[in-house]
Amino acid sequence: MRDFSQDHRWLSINTATVRKSRGQDLPLTDILDACARHGIRAISPWRDQVAAAGLKTVSAQVRALGLELSGYCRGGMFPSLDAAGQQAARDDNRRAVDEACELAAPCLVLVVGSLPGALAGQAAHKDLQRARDQVRDGIEELFGYAKAAGMPLAIEPLHPMYAGDRACINTMEQALDVCDALDPDKTGALGVAVDVYHVWWDPKLQAQIERAGKSRLLAFHVCDWLTPTTDLLNDRGMMGDGVIDIPRLRGWVEAQGFQGYSEVEIFSTGNWWQREHDEVLRTCIERHRSAV
Ligand code: ZN
Repeated sequence: MRDFSQDHRWLSINTATVRKSRGQDLPLTDILDACARHGIRAISPWRDQVAAAGLKTVSAQVRALGLELSGYCRGGMFPSLDAAGQQAARDDNRRAVDEACELAAPCLVLVVGSLPGALAGQAAHKDLQRARDQVRDGIEELFGYAKAAGMPLAIEPLHPMYAGDRACINTMEQALDVCDALDPDKTGALGVAVDVYHVWWDPKLQAQIERAGKSRLLAFHVCDWLTPTTDLLNDRGMMGDGVIDIPRLRGWVEAQGFQGYSEVEIFSTGNWWQREHDEVLRTCIERHRSAV
């Protein structure tokens, strides 16, 4: 297992972690400058942040600062009620692939979606299997496009508390079943994003990481699970502040040959988004060395 205690060579910052500084929105261009200033070599930006700053502006800035991406957030949200919705999801996901290519991302992360309308507060139906079938079909369709573009797709299983609205793929096993069905040769073009926040509780986690193997392990996201957690979405903890044995999980991933970035992804309305972003980045660096 790699020694992270001496430097932050393998730290990446998911830009949602510092999307706010002292509660105020922080533009992506400022986030990139701050990361470079702290000697952080990689980032994973969100599409809305990129759109706000302008794709060309961001890709030029990434290159000028010598930054790499550890992923691009995100595509997915496949299920919909009708053909028009499906077409819109298809088009939007293809644009996400194109943007990821422009930014030279190593993969496009997929949060697959679930019951149509649920995120807006009103699910149109309760047929979870139908949503899962649409997700599978949506990934299959996008996979053809992404393969041709040379952009790997990383399915991110989300914690089951999001099964109704954000993602109906909730375990590594489910994600890998889709990968194995659509990419049986393990080409590296389809895999998973392992986010410790979503999968740490899974008794099958180690076995499924071994099943994934190096070719399917496309991204590794870290933060911590706070006890108690006070918000289902925006109360993620800083590494070391919660109950996830992150070094153990990183050991499992690296035992398969994963040598990529450890991407810090923290959504924290009440704590970290209230702090000054330089303090947050300094803390990420410190905890990367001591708790990851
Ligand atoms: Zn994640």
